[in-house]
Amino acid sequence: MAVALAAAGLALAGCKKDAETPAAARPEPVTKIVPAQATPANTLPPTKPVARPIAAGPLEIWKEFSGERAFEEVGRQVEVGPRPSGTPEIEKARTLIEDGLRRTGWEVERQIFTNETPRGPVKFTNLIGRFSPTGKSPAPRDTQRAIVCSHYDTKRFSTIRFVGASDGASSTGALLELARVLALDPALAAKIELVFFDGEEAFVGFTDPDDPKPDGLFGSRYYARNLRESGRAAQFKFGILWDMIGDRDLTITLSPDSPADLTREVLASAAALSLGQHFGRHESLILDDHVPLTRTARIPTIDLIDFDYPAWHTADDKLDRIAPESLQKIGAVTLHQLRKALGK
Ligand SMILES: [Zn+2]
Repeated sequence: MAVALAAAGLALAGCKKDAETPAAARPEPVTKIVPAQATPANTLPPTKPVARPIAAGPLEIWKEFSGERAFEEVGRQVEVGPRPSGTPEIEKARTLIEDGLRRTGWEVERQIFTNETPRGPVKFTNLIGRFSPTGKSPAPRDTQRAIVCSHYDTKRFSTIRFVGASDGASSTGALLELARVLALDPALAAKIELVFFDGEEAFVGFTDPDDPKPDGLFGSRYYARNLRESGRAAQFKFGILWDMIGDRDLTITLSPDSPADLTREVLASAAALSLGQHFGRHESLILDDHVPLTRTARIPTIDLIDFDYPAWHTADDKLDRIAPESLQKIGAVTLHQLRKALGK
């Protein structure tokens, strides 16, 4: 993540087996004779090709999210070590994400771009996951109605070894578990675009996304601009951003610029799952990847972030600070909201 801004300038199934009945005892089948002229051929409805039915997923899909599985994915990211943008290490992190998505039936697009940064030009890669409900490739690009996203880069430090267990890995690992669960319901999965942003972290210091020489939020700014310019932005109803969701002591600090309707829905899902106590409000605006989505692509996006995290941007942001239960709670609330908002 991200930075908190003091200034208010930023808009932020059984069936019984048939008994062995002797043939003689069986009743004669009753055949109802329907006169042929009752349904003249010319009144029959035209024959339509029947699409292969899409398997229905579990209605209470939020119960399928495994904090333990998510935690394993987080561990794989952390094992790579520091994963700053433009390094060989982040390429290893990318390969893990791509493998995880493909294993659960998602297609992955690499959205590659180069941006000027305070450290010179850097090549960034967003990873975009889409699901084909029929199994045909490529996956459709016009069925998605919500974005669920996270950044996967870690902040570069020269003085400490920073592995970003919560800041980068927690939301990335949980998003891979979300992909696995959504794949249980192909119709729902086809309505979701999963995005893993590169370049969230600033090289020197965060600037407003509209600054002429912006630092930070490189991936989300590019993705949001691309959505707007391609015309795809209009198909999305809302976005959910995950960032720093692994803290053992989970307190989601909602930014004051959280979209009102979406916030109400997320809090209602949290309350329905008896998890409302983990959600609070942050007193100042939080600058994070939801800002370009909301501001540039005009897609109301909520940032589910635990910014009350003492290990933020320190060498202590390690795996022992992360609880599978925290990942499970955020995964479940998100899936509950997605099911309610997007239906079966
Ligand atoms: Zn950060």
